[in-house]
Amino acid sequence: MPTFTRSSPVEAAALAECAARLDPSRLARGVALAPYTTFRIGGPADLFYRAHDADDLARAVLAARATGVPVFVLGLGANILVGDRGFRGLVVKNEARGVTWHDDGHVRAESGAVVADLIREAVGRGWSGLEHYVGIPSTVGGAVWQNLHFLSPAPARERTMLIEEIVEAVELLTAEDERRTVDRTYMQFGYDFSVLHVRPDIALAVTFRLAPGDPAILHRILQENLAWRGGKHPWLEYHPSIGSIFKKIEGVGAGRLIDQVGLKGHRLGGAQISHIHANIFVNLGGATAADVLALIRLAQEKVLAETGYRIETEIGLVGDFAGALPAD
Ligand SMILES: Cc1cc2nc3c(=O)[nH]c(=O)nc-3n(C[C@H](O)[C@H](O)[C@H](O)COP(=O)(O)OP(=O)(O)OC[C@H]3O[C@@H](n4cnc5c(N)ncnc54)[C@H](O)[C@@H]3O)c2cc1C
Repeated sequence: MPTFTRSSPVEAAALAECAARLDPSRLARGVALAPYTTFRIGGPADLFYRAHDADDLARAVLAARATGVPVFVLGLGANILVGDRGFRGLVVKNEARGVTWHDDGHVRAESGAVVADLIREAVGRGWSGLEHYVGIPSTVGGAVWQNLHFLSPAPARERTMLIEEIVEAVELLTAEDERRTVDRTYMQFGYDFSVLHVRPDIALAVTFRLAPGDPAILHRILQENLAWRGGKHPWLEYHPSIGSIFKKIEGVGAGRLIDQVGLKGHRLGGAQISHIHANIFVNLGGATAADVLALIRLAQEKVLAETGYRIETEIGLVGDFAGALPAD
């Protein structure tokens, strides 16, 4: 499980030096992160900076690195659980959303661009490739970090489609502070994986290669995929979540195991294992990261004891958990 956890404080002098390198009009201190995640959970960041374009994003990350301040790049917060005590260091909220459309189907999107906006525009222009990911909250950066995925179109739904299939190039700020454009091979895409899990490179922009599509088919895919989600997933507007909590177990399904041991609908504090999909936990209001971690542990222990399967989390843990981390 990728974690960006740290409980020890960052020296005030380092934070001040980092802050001095950032545009003060976009910088704030002690900002609660909960509203910036789809789970609506998480305490304050020491420093919170809104990067407005790819260069600004690179500058902010470099400022943190140069001053020894831990840095976390935040997209829509749709795949992370932030600790109740927040993040010690700098959180860069990625609002770099510039997009350039080319006539040949290539589109360059800064990494803070929201995938839903790209889909709307691509379908409007008759380009195919992004429509499969409709209804999934994600920035472009989050999508390449995790290699966003969904099932191929109905009725067959015979395979998992991965965003890597349409990625042509990724502009990075590398772990060595270099600006570099890389191809798919460098990204080492896998299921729920890219090289960004193991190297602190930052995606600044991505070029996608789309294909001409029949508007009627594109709209059909949008409708069918949204209907699939509407029927199988809790609605984010009413039930904040971060999608699937546990990794897929081929042919078995983590959700099915949790259901089998009788935990569907189980509640701890403000967190609940969804009634309609047991691999999704929802915030019923006022849930804490501690509630979610306790629920994760309970599900792991009960599933192991009663079925023999070890279920592992696929979400990222970010920030200060004051020592209360799950087992895997
Ligand atoms: C209701 C719901 C349904 C979902 N369904 C699916 C689904 O069907 N398929 C699927 O694949 N996922 C699904 N997810 C998970 C989530 O939408 C994806 O993982 C998404 O890509 C997260 O993007 P984000 O911008 O919110 O990233 P965040 O959650 O903000 O960040 C996730 C990780 O990416 C890193 N990151 C973000 N931007 C950058 C960058 N520019 N450079 C380097 N690292 C970066 C962050 O540092 C962090 O480690 C679902 C989530 C929800 C809430």
